[in-house]
Amino acid sequence: MKKNVAYLYDPVCLEHDTGLWHPESPERLRAIEQTLTRLKPRLMLLSPSRVPEKLLLQVHTPKHIETVRFACEMERPLDADTICVRRSWDSALMAAGAGIVGLDALKAEQVDRAFCAIRPPGHHATRNQSMGFCLFNNIAVAARYAQSIGYEKVAIIDFDVHHGNGTQDIFYDDGSVLYLSTHQHPAYPGTGAPDECGRGEGKGTIFNFPFPPSSGDAELIPVYSENLPHILADFGPDIILVSAGYDLHEADPLAQLEVSTEGVRAIVRAILDAADALPTLFFLEGGYDVKALSECVYATVEEMIKQGS
Ligand SMILES: [Zn+2]
Repeated sequence: MKKNVAYLYDPVCLEHDTGLWHPESPERLRAIEQTLTRLKPRLMLLSPSRVPEKLLLQVHTPKHIETVRFACEMERPLDADTICVRRSWDSALMAAGAGIVGLDALKAEQVDRAFCAIRPPGHHATRNQSMGFCLFNNIAVAARYAQSIGYEKVAIIDFDVHHGNGTQDIFYDDGSVLYLSTHQHPAYPGTGAPDECGRGEGKGTIFNFPFPPSSGDAELIPVYSENLPHILADFGPDIILVSAGYDLHEADPLAQLEVSTEGVRAIVRAILDAADALPTLFFLEGGYDVKALSECVYATVEEMIKQGS
C-alpha cells in the first residue's frame, strides 16, 4: 500500500535542553514519538537533515545566524524565555531543515502530506531576532525553499494559540506568501490584530483572527471550515504549510483558548479539506501539556492519513 504521509523526526531535536522547568522541553517530542508508535507502520518515516546556511540566509540576516551560533556556543539565553545550550545549534539546524526534506518528498510525489515533529519551534523568530522559544523560523525557511522548487504561491496557516509574529513579519510585504493565524488575544506576543493585513505587495495576504480567552471549539472551527476555503480560493496557493501549535488545547498550561482534542481534529480536517489536492506540510510549533500535545499530534497525523486513503 502506498504511504501517503511522511513523518519527519530526528533525536537531535531532543538535545536542545532547556532545563528542568521549561515548558518547551524534549519531553514533548518523546511523548509524541511514543504515542505515534501505532501509526508508524502507515507512515513514510524520514530523517530531517540540517538546513544549509544558504537557505537560512533566505530568511534570516547573517548577523542573526551569528547571534544564535554564538549564544549556543556560550550557552547564553537569547531572551528570558529562549534558552540555548551547545547542542541547541544542531537541534535548530535540524528543525529548520526538516521542511526541506519534507518538501523534496512532496515534490517527488513520494507522499501527499508530511508532518515535521521538530523543536525548537519557529513561528516567533523574525528575520533578525529569536524569541518565544524560537531560534530560527522553520516554516519561513520552508516557504522560501518551496518557492525555489516551483511552489510559487505558498499559504501558511497557523493555529498555534500564539500569534506567529515572526512569520507575519517576514512575509508582511511579500505577496507571494499568505499568512493566516488564529490566536488568543490578549496573549504573548501581543501582535495579530485584524487590521494587520499586509503592506505593499503583501496587502491583503495576511489574515488575523484573534480570540478572547475561553473561546473554544465553536468559535475557532468556523475560521477553518468557513473562512479558510474562500481565502485560499482567492489566493490560489500551490502548497499549504501549517504551523501546528497545540497550545490552543484546553489542557495547555500557557494559554486559555480551551479547544478540545476533537476540536483540534476538526480544525485539521477543515485545513486538509480546504487544501484539497494541494501538498500539505505540517510543522510542530507549541503545545505544552505533553499528554494533550501527543494526543493532538496523533489526531492530526491520523486525519492526514485518512484524507488520502
Ligand atoms: Zn504557542
